[in-house]
Amino acid sequence: MDTILSINPSVDIYKIGDDQLEFYFISTRRRITIDVSPVVISFINNIDGETTIRSLCADLDIEVDKEVLNFIGYLLQNKILLIPAEEERNKKILSNDDLDRYDRQLNYFNSMFENSAYQYQDKLQNTKVLIFGAGAIGSGIAMQLAMAGIRHFILVDKDVISEDSVERHFCFRKRDIGEPKVESLKRVLLSIDSKIECQTYYSIVDYNTDIDIWLENADFVLNTMDEPYIGYTSMKLGRKCYKRNLPLYVGGGFDAHLMSTGELIVPNVTPCVDCYTAYFTESLKDWKPKYNVDAITEKEYNDNIFEVGGLSSMSLFSISYATIVIINYLITGDAKFSKGRGELLFDNLCINYLNVSRNPNCKICGKK
Ligand SMILES: [Zn+2]
Repeated sequence: MDTILSINPSVDIYKIGDDQLEFYFISTRRRITIDVSPVVISFINNIDGETTIRSLCADLDIEVDKEVLNFIGYLLQNKILLIPAEEERNKKILSNDDLDRYDRQLNYFNSMFENSAYQYQDKLQNTKVLIFGAGAIGSGIAMQLAMAGIRHFILVDKDVISEDSVERHFCFRKRDIGEPKVESLKRVLLSIDSKIECQTYYSIVDYNTDIDIWLENADFVLNTMDEPYIGYTSMKLGRKCYKRNLPLYVGGGFDAHLMSTGELIVPNVTPCVDCYTAYFTESLKDWKPKYNVDAITEKEYNDNIFEVGGLSSMSLFSISYATIVIINYLITGDAKFSKGRGELLFDNLCINYLNVSRNPNCKICGKK
């Protein structure tokens, strides 16, 4: 009753005719339309961030009954209304610097998700992200996660920066050529946020690599390695992550720089890596590509001399898509933001998602 209400600053309210209100969330384009009576329009109109529910009702000569409280509860739950006192309390979780720095992002969280934006931001800042592969996709996702407030990174990659890295990687410059990618990337991350802690490992990851030492310090794992073949590394990582109940995002390889969405793999929630592998094995069983010997020899192909073409902007699609899914998952713990593997098609600019589901007979995630 004595609670003071305010309108979420990220919400625009439109009156449609005399009996409807539309709430439009500026950051997310979400719209909620409700049928209302004139008194409800007046009630919402009077909310000013200073007046209590009791006074708002008294001014309109309405009783604060269950119906009114349920309606206010609905508006609060949908983040159309906020409680300024609660906001002030939750703000204290973050430093003043961070409140300024993440102002727009906090608005987005406030429009998009049910709980406190400040708690979500705090959660991001305390999450430890382990990234295998600091190539075009991995380094780009790392940068975007750092910009969003991730402050703990473990980076593993075997490559040094070459001439053509500068054209494809957003964070590397000519002066970095010859340096291990993980070291240059660490420098970039620290230049984004000096509070970042970053461990780097200039190392190959193959069948014999002990990855447990890295996994045990991680809350979230990302695989963007091109080599060895990402199907194998994801299988190794995915099974280990499954045992540790660690979420994994497979975001690179498979020519992901050509606008692939990658996939989020959450143990016991989404299809596991073995489900994905079984899907690909089945769908590619009749696919026997013939090499165009005039254009490329099989040896060239096997030696990886031949590279699939693309624009760095296409990598940026994969990077940004992955980062949005990862951030939404990290703060809410909800895998619904991931639709699995898909790719943006050039001809109609639609995303074509693969229809992979959990296999009940899967030896990893199936019902035992
Ligand atoms: Zn499975």
